Amino acid sequence: MRKVLISGAGVAGPTLAYWLARAGFRPTVVERATGQRSSGNPVDVRGPALPVVEQMGLVEALRAAATQTAGVRFVDSSGRLSRRISMPATRSPAGTSEVEVPRADLARILHRAARDDAEFVYDDTITRFDQDPGGVDVTFERGPARRFDLVVGADGLHSVVRRLAFGPERDFVRHLGIYVATTPLGEPPDEPHDVLLHNTPGRLVAVHPVRGEAGVAFIFRHPVIPDFDYRDSAQHRRILAEAYAGERGWRVPELLARAQRTEDLYFDAVCKVVLPSWSAGRVVLLGDAAASVSLLGDGSSMAIAGARTLAAALAESDHVAAFRRYEAEHRRRTDPRKRGARLAAAMLIPKSRAGLATRNAMARLLPGRRSS
Ligand SMILES: Cc1cc2nc3c(=O)[nH]c(=O)nc-3n(C[C@H](O)[C@H](O)[C@H](O)COP(=O)(O)OP(=O)(O)OC[C@H]3O[C@@H](n4cnc5c(N)ncnc54)[C@H](O)[C@@H]3O)c2cc1C
Repeated sequence: MRKVLISGAGVAGPTLAYWLARAGFRPTVVERATGQRSSGNPVDVRGPALPVVEQMGLVEALRAAATQTAGVRFVDSSGRLSRRISMPATRSPAGTSEVEVPRADLARILHRAARDDAEFVYDDTITRFDQDPGGVDVTFERGPARRFDLVVGADGLHSVVRRLAFGPERDFVRHLGIYVATTPLGEPPDEPHDVLLHNTPGRLVAVHPVRGEAGVAFIFRHPVIPDFDYRDSAQHRRILAEAYAGERGWRVPELLARAQRTEDLYFDAVCKVVLPSWSAGRVVLLGDAAASVSLLGDGSSMAIAGARTLAAALAESDHVAAFRRYEAEHRRRTDPRKRGARLAAAMLIPKSRAGLATRNAMARLLPGRRSS
């Protein structure tokens, strides 16, 4: 029985573990965090991910965890709301419609589906691996060294497997000049089913509902910060304060003050991961580690669909042919989304007043409902 080590128990890792176990592999998932962690950012399960979660029998669980967001409204500086723009929902051939869930709930649901058939090891990380023609010897920070047939990097944008197999992050991760900060607000949202977007040129503040609780996201353009460190929370608070210093409209000063005080601030650069190949010998990358465009490219759906494709390929052939087939098939999904990132950014955070007016005019053409 082939033993596969998967680094990362986010979205891609547990999905791959589930499908590999069904194909007769022995998966082990190693996760750096001490348990299934929070990060309430809402993510979508849609498109090619829908048939996968249907086959896993997870549709009901995902619906129960859904954020229940139905639309988007723009808010001006004085707090006046535009009409609601309905969120278009894609459907699978079987009729399941896309669902938005907090990322942490998605990871938990996928983990629950996989945990009986895979080994999960928390609070540890790979520190080194050495490949030979028969397998991979892996060293961990805490646990004893072990040997596996294959290693999969499903450990996200800042993947350690990618660094160990391919080289430093700066060679493959391109910052797009956009930064994102999010935090839960611990209060009910103003509008229970709508995301509220307040834009000024190059900046966005969004309040989104998550099953009766509100979360806030700050997404803004900024020249690339050369010494940006995704682990340095003092630096994050400084960057955020400077970026929104002149903003006085709507609830921005108050929301900013709360983001400065919270212990639970997520902050990162919006990045594109670009690699000429996703595998090196017996090691392969999956999800954000291979092809992220952060929040602009269906990352969670790509992680789920990619995991299914990789498991199916490995079930049918040796790892060399399987990695080639997986990459060819899955790049056909991720490449167009990477190319669409600029347009998605232009819609979300227009750079200028003219860009904002154009975006809002385009939005008025979308199906919506007049607000009262
Ligand atoms: C603010 C924000 C909003 C987003 N909105 C959307 C959206 O609306 N729609 C959408 O489709 N996608 C969205 N995304 C993207 C989506 O969250 C990711 O693309 C998706 O989670 C990728 O899944 P993954 O499993 O590859 O990586 P992750 O979900 O990031 O999981 C990686 C896992 O690896 C673990 N890990 C990291 N390093 C190590 C290590 N050294 N050893 C062991 N484990 C490690 C991490 O703790 C984590 O559990 C958004 C992202 C952000 C940041």
